[in-house]
Amino acid sequence: MAAERNCRIVIIGGGPAGLTAATYCARARLEPILIEGMDAGGQLMTTSEVENFPGFPDGIMGPELIANMRRQAEKFGTEFVSGNVTAVDLSKRPFSISVGDQTLVSCALIIATGATARYLDIPSVQRLRGHGISACATCDGFFFRNKKVFLAGGGDSALEEAQFLTQFASSVTVIHRRDEFRASKIMQEYARKNPKISFLMSHVIVDALGEERLTGLRLRDLATNEVRDVEADGLFFAIGHDPNTGIFKSYLETDEAGYLKRQPDRTATSIPGVFAAGDVADNYYRQATTAAGDGCRAALEVEKFLLAQGEAH
Ligand code: NAP
Repeated sequence: MAAERNCRIVIIGGGPAGLTAATYCARARLEPILIEGMDAGGQLMTTSEVENFPGFPDGIMGPELIANMRRQAEKFGTEFVSGNVTAVDLSKRPFSISVGDQTLVSCALIIATGATARYLDIPSVQRLRGHGISACATCDGFFFRNKKVFLAGGGDSALEEAQFLTQFASSVTVIHRRDEFRASKIMQEYARKNPKISFLMSHVIVDALGEERLTGLRLRDLATNEVRDVEADGLFFAIGHDPNTGIFKSYLETDEAGYLKRQPDRTATSIPGVFAAGDVADNYYRQATTAAGDGCRAALEVEKFLLAQGEAH
């Protein structure tokens, strides 16, 4: 039998949203427990230098930024539990959250489990992640100054990121699996007007080439079935993200892409007492800064909620 422990607020997720929520909850003396999974820290842990997080004019490494946030949350009394949540029961309040050999029974819950950028499931792609292959143009584009870069995807993100990459790269080639884009017309217009961007429609990546670093791509033209190799210094993926909602899905409403739905202008979800912050509920901004802001909003809402229930002390 798992040991049960009562608490007022559990936060699931150790990225910027969860850690900011923890700092605010801890300062509100709610004695938060933050559960950080096996991949603690989220997407920032696989990012190199973060140059757009306010307060760090000289940039900061992603893992260091997370370590700072964690230290800040801990300083005010956040308790960290490490392990992946295996089950939740949100059918009644207090909610049950199972992690390792304990069950936390909590008055309120903040879900900040983030989203995972999609990569192609090809061994060479997995191996060269961080060595020429990235799924975050905003994070890593800067490192491809005057380089020949490819970008896979055909949605708004792909074309927006292609534009962004032209600030640095000498050329950006968008590879899309269909012969028409999913992206909005205006994004297509902008991209087509940019002389540094070219397009390989109806093409798929078969393999990423290179031992230590990406040196090229093996592509298949779906129209002719021809396979050929091209030289490449960088490959970015913009083929969507998957929100990490697996264990909550049967309880909470999600949008058609699977992101947790929230009340208008709030982080409150469809269940009173359950809040969602960061990328797990945001398919649009997806920035460390907006995730941190969202964590702050969730914590303030939790505090109000617990006060209204008479459970804040
Ligand atoms: P998205 O709209 O779902 O597009 C994903 C793209 O990746 C699609 O073109 C898809 O191809 C392709 N793709 C998916 N899996 C693939 C695979 N295994 N191999 C090759 N290609 C694959 O995702 P998104 O572009 O990240 O946009 C998400 C949401 O944010 C959208 O609602 C978008 O409008 C919004 N957004 C808006 C803006 C803006 O307005 N400024 C900017 C960014 C994002 P298919 O087309 O063939 O399915």
